[in-house]
Amino acid sequence: MTDTTRENPLAFIADELEELRAKHLYRPLRIMSAEQGPVTTVDGREVISLSSNDYLGLTHHPRMKAAAIEAVREYGAGSGAVRTIAGTMSIHEALEAELAAFKGTEAVLTFQSGFTANTGVIPTITGEADLIVSDALNHASIIDGMRLSKAPRKVFPHADVTGLEAVLREATEQGRPGGAGPYRLILVVTDGVFSMDGDIAPLPGIVEVAERYGAAVFVDDAHASGVLGRNGRGTVDHFGLHGRVAIQVGTLSKAVGVLGGYVAGSQDLRDLLVQRARPFLFSTSHPPAVVEACREAIRIMEEETWRIERLWSSTRRFKVELARLGFDTGRSETPITPVILGEAEAAIRFSARLFEEGVFATSVVFPTVALDQARLRTIVTAALTDEQLDRALAAFDRVGRELGLIAG
Ligand code: PMP
Repeated sequence: MTDTTRENPLAFIADELEELRAKHLYRPLRIMSAEQGPVTTVDGREVISLSSNDYLGLTHHPRMKAAAIEAVREYGAGSGAVRTIAGTMSIHEALEAELAAFKGTEAVLTFQSGFTANTGVIPTITGEADLIVSDALNHASIIDGMRLSKAPRKVFPHADVTGLEAVLREATEQGRPGGAGPYRLILVVTDGVFSMDGDIAPLPGIVEVAERYGAAVFVDDAHASGVLGRNGRGTVDHFGLHGRVAIQVGTLSKAVGVLGGYVAGSQDLRDLLVQRARPFLFSTSHPPAVVEACREAIRIMEEETWRIERLWSSTRRFKVELARLGFDTGRSETPITPVILGEAEAAIRFSARLFEEGVFATSVVFPTVALDQARLRTIVTAALTDEQLDRALAAFDRVGRELGLIAG
């Protein structure tokens, strides 16, 4: 007999949406109808954008566009297959060689995104006999990578080297559960720069402790790529830890201005990933335009050093001015500058009013951050002029006072 009581088996979806709206946690997409940049058009309004991860202003760089167009002319619009079937072009290999030289590692393998790099590499190199030890605030793609792995995992308190050491000590003393002997691999995983708070992982301490316990270190440098280290080589370069971090993941989607992720490490690591990493094996490779624009980005990062300098000088000025106005910018040490407001409703209202004033600063609420940590997440890119920065700060001042978020 047909069950007529379940007219719409997906009715729970509408209920879930209703609940999100009631809690002010529902976020409609904002639609951009111009290229990304310091000034763009969002929902039909021209705004100063503080919301992109386009740290160096490369998304719209004329040389990047030219490289992409030329790649389409020469190699076509798509690659046509996964890398292991018929989708590896000479330009894919060239990009990887150039990235390896840039990072100072033996080899690099690219993935479709930073997200797939993490979900590709973590389950490939870990299994039942291993242990993953992860920072409590690691990115969602690391968490998903761990979920796809058969390895057990332990979480250490955020950026807490002493807490990490306690986990490593216990793991080495006790070994695998049920007296199964020592772990084959203990992999310590951390973001290099944490994407919501903008703090930098205490990598020298993490590496030192990991070495003492024979563990390998894995750093996800999505928000350090193009931002920290010489010409944006990342946290390993920033801290002078070359040769002591086994695996570095980077993204080509943020400062590099295009799309993609990569894993930098040993040649053996690359060789194994080519054989086993599932996003690499089962998802089509980057189209030529993406690859060639990424290669051009590396050249620009080496040549136009004013971009990273400008990124940091504007960031310093922005943080000082926000603090002077009375805003809480949390523990940020990088161009990711959170403006912490507490309640989701306050963050959403502040963001909406700033938008009306011509400033696009997205609110970030639960579950991306803790319930009482709702915020605006801002980045002042290298492309922003002083005049645009002044206008943005004036709007923060005006709207902040209007909503009673700052005194005055
Ligand atoms: N890791 C971290 C720490 C990130 O912040 C992000 C992007 N939000 C990613 C990985 C994913 O990178 P991509 O956008 O290239 O998929």
